[in-house]
Amino acid sequence: MKNELAGPPARPTEVGPRPLERSDGRTEDAGERAAVSESTRLHTLHEISLLINAAQTREEILGVVRRESKWVVPAELTFLCLLDKSRTRYTVGSLSASFDESPLNEQEFPLSEGLPGLVIRNQSPLMRRVTPGSTANDVFEEELSRPGIRALLLVPLRTGDLTIGALGFGSGHLNVYPEQDVAIAQMLASQMAIALQSMTMLDDVKRRIAQIELVNELSGTLTSTLDLSQLLHTAVETIRKTFSYFDVTLLFVDQHAGEVYLVAHAGVHADFLPAGYRQKISDGVIGWVAAHGQLLLVNDVREEPRFLAYTYRATRSELAIPIKVGQEIIGVLNVEADAVHAFDETDVTVLEILCDQLGVAIKNAQLYDELKKSNAKLTELDRMKSDFLGIVSHDFRSPLASIVLAGQALLRRSGPFDQQRVNEYLQVIVDQATRLNYLAEDTLSIAKLESGQLSYHFNIVNLDRLIRDAAALVNFTGRHTFECSVDPAVAFARGDQAKLRQVVQNLLTNAVKYSPRGGSIRVRAKAYTEDQVVVSVQDEGIGIPADQSDRLFRKFSRINTESAREIKGSGLGLWICREIVRAHGGTIWVESTEEKGSTFSFTLKKAEAEQG
Ligand code: ADP
Repeated sequence: MKNELAGPPARPTEVGPRPLERSDGRTEDAGERAAVSESTRLHTLHEISLLINAAQTREEILGVVRRESKWVVPAELTFLCLLDKSRTRYTVGSLSASFDESPLNEQEFPLSEGLPGLVIRNQSPLMRRVTPGSTANDVFEEELSRPGIRALLLVPLRTGDLTIGALGFGSGHLNVYPEQDVAIAQMLASQMAIALQSMTMLDDVKRRIAQIELVNELSGTLTSTLDLSQLLHTAVETIRKTFSYFDVTLLFVDQHAGEVYLVAHAGVHADFLPAGYRQKISDGVIGWVAAHGQLLLVNDVREEPRFLAYTYRATRSELAIPIKVGQEIIGVLNVEADAVHAFDETDVTVLEILCDQLGVAIKNAQLYDELKKSNAKLTELDRMKSDFLGIVSHDFRSPLASIVLAGQALLRRSGPFDQQRVNEYLQVIVDQATRLNYLAEDTLSIAKLESGQLSYHFNIVNLDRLIRDAAALVNFTGRHTFECSVDPAVAFARGDQAKLRQVVQNLLTNAVKYSPRGGSIRVRAKAYTEDQVVVSVQDEGIGIPADQSDRLFRKFSRINTESAREIKGSGLGLWICREIVRAHGGTIWVESTEEKGSTFSFTLKKAEAEQG
């Protein structure tokens, strides 16, 4: 029975030196060596195996072989060839000081090339006498012959049926390695392969656990974070750290511009992509994913034509996954690694799950942002509407007060009947009632404009009469002079008389309102193009700053200057004007100089006077 209290076996330390070395410095010959040391070598191999088994990391395993293999397999140099994940290429690594400087060290070869490739493919050892300068030599023989290697032994690194690479020994001896050496090298290689394979599996399990923890942790953060930029940043940072990718980027798709743009970036080269980086949707791996909505796994970027060469030179593999909300592709998660075949199926699955969650989280954060914005807009609209109601009720009150006063004066009359005075009072009542009527019409048209229900009755409009009708409804003060000139060549336009009256009246009311120091107010109508007429209202008032003149015509928009703020208004008049002018197929604009005055102009279609 296993003794639970025994604990792990004591870790062996160094093995060598063994009696392979001779004090006279003479090289042993193979037969002599075999006779002398067969059992000793087996014993040494057993000790090396213990060391290999006790190693905690891949580096420790390689360190043991590097230090100890010479005691069991005589060699001037030792090297290792390891298959990559794709099992199509192998990389050479040094296991002895004499190989460290070899041009073969750290080189990568396709499995179809080189003697180690042959050994891995055939899963059987190979011994070779190396003849310098022979044309039949492959690259390994060629390179190894340079430092004086004359015999080469390669054994496969096998665990069961799986070959993960090859172990190579080079000797200056002319004699090829004897069978005993081959057998011992194979035993050593198989110990090494098992240990390396377990290490890979252990690493894999560790990585999986970390990834599952990441998904848990991140999904918690994602569903609880509504701050979009923090959310994106946390996502890329966590992914990079957990998966050890050297670069992670998140890009959003701008369908309108046909581009993708960077929104979060974590990586060794964090400065490489500038903030605000944009690229066409058709470019590169990322662009392809954004356009097609499918993930793209590039195991070796050198073999992928869609890979953009200007991205990191260190990038060897890339995985880009679309982020979707429903059917809409809203972004791309892009991860890059500096090794080929860096991503396996589990990486892809885990990152796909994350992208699904990211999609939902991004949508939530965006909705929350929109909600915040529309809330702020609603609050602002609410304030503007209250302002507007205040102004409208004030506008209604003053003609009403005049009507009441005139009526009361008529009723109170007790003296002789003065027809002229009575007529004057009655005129006040009629004028003010007409004003009220127009005011009610204007207020109503705002609601109708908003709901798109304002109806127009197009006719031929006499411009001179239109302007004078409108001016009659404006309270000019003694500080203002009013002039009107209509070019007889364009005396008529096509339009809705009542609506156009409203436009001119609004512009004139503004001209008076925004010229508190008085001045002249001129209205002109003249030809604009062959079939258009322009009506302009000019004042000598406070003017409008150039940078604000564009937004004047928007609903509730008011100028933000000290002098303008002092004057009460709703910010609706010009919006109504623009809507009415647009419905006539015309345009409205302003030219203005601060403190000098403004000219508002709008165009209408010309018309001929009706016959008869
Ligand atoms: P209101 O005058 O009720 O605020 P309007 O839509 O008529 O709304 O005008 C919008 C803004 O444009 C005004 O608040 C004012 O700042 C500016 N404005 C309009 N007409 C003039 C003008 N003739 N001179 C200077 N500023 C003007």
